Amino acid sequence: MAVGVLALQGSFNEHLAALRRIGVKGVEIRKAEQLDNITSLIIPGGESTTMAKLAELHNLFPALREFVRMGKPVWGTCAGLIFLADKAVGQKIGGQELVGGLDCTVHRNFFGSQIQSFEAELPVPELAAKEGGPPSFRGVFIRAPAILEVGLGVEVLASVSIKEESAEPESKVIVAVKQGNILATAFHPELTIDSRWHSYFMKMSPSNNEITAASSSSSNYYEDPESYLYNKQPKTDLPIYE
Ligand code: GLN
Repeated sequence: MAVGVLALQGSFNEHLAALRRIGVKGVEIRKAEQLDNITSLIIPGGESTTMAKLAELHNLFPALREFVRMGKPVWGTCAGLIFLADKAVGQKIGGQELVGGLDCTVHRNFFGSQIQSFEAELPVPELAAKEGGPPSFRGVFIRAPAILEVGLGVEVLASVSIKEESAEPESKVIVAVKQGNILATAFHPELTIDSRWHSYFMKMSPSNNEITAASSSSSNYYEDPESYLYNKQPKTDLPIYE
């Protein structure tokens, strides 16, 4: 069984390409019944209001909620994180429907508008412990949300430092979390060549462990000096399009 990528809008192609890079087959999901044929699901970044309208049009919300409730691994990136949050603030008037399941409050455009998009080197101790590689990850934040508060069962995997001119000292805001079967990142790992979040997600599904172990041994550019990517100093190759 394959990994599904919700393909209504946004960066679903980039997620499919990132999965291919680690040797995993991803399939586009547009209809509720297609969720029956996948082991886990990625909800990509994009524009959460538009994505919610399309999901409503295709009557996807009940099936998505059921998928999360069944304990199948689901990863939301950026707009996908907003989708999975139990509560969102900073929404358009009237709000938008959410899938929910992740015990947190997100701010939809926490860092400002599109032109305030940025990249930041994030400390990722848990990811590096599980996947190897450097202790930090290049986060690509595009009109990104942030997580304002989390419930007790939510593990924080990454935060970004924010320095407001008047604010002393510098404060941190949560940008990656895990709660049981749910993974959520406010940034876009699919736009970098560092595939550690994708392989981390694959390992959240017990049935996928074997595939990932086999594929990551052949494509882990950090540990394979023969690999093309290892020799290309991938950290500066942003963003990635195919
Ligand atoms: N802030 C955007 C929204 O509300 C999400 C941006 C993104 O996914 N890159 O949908």
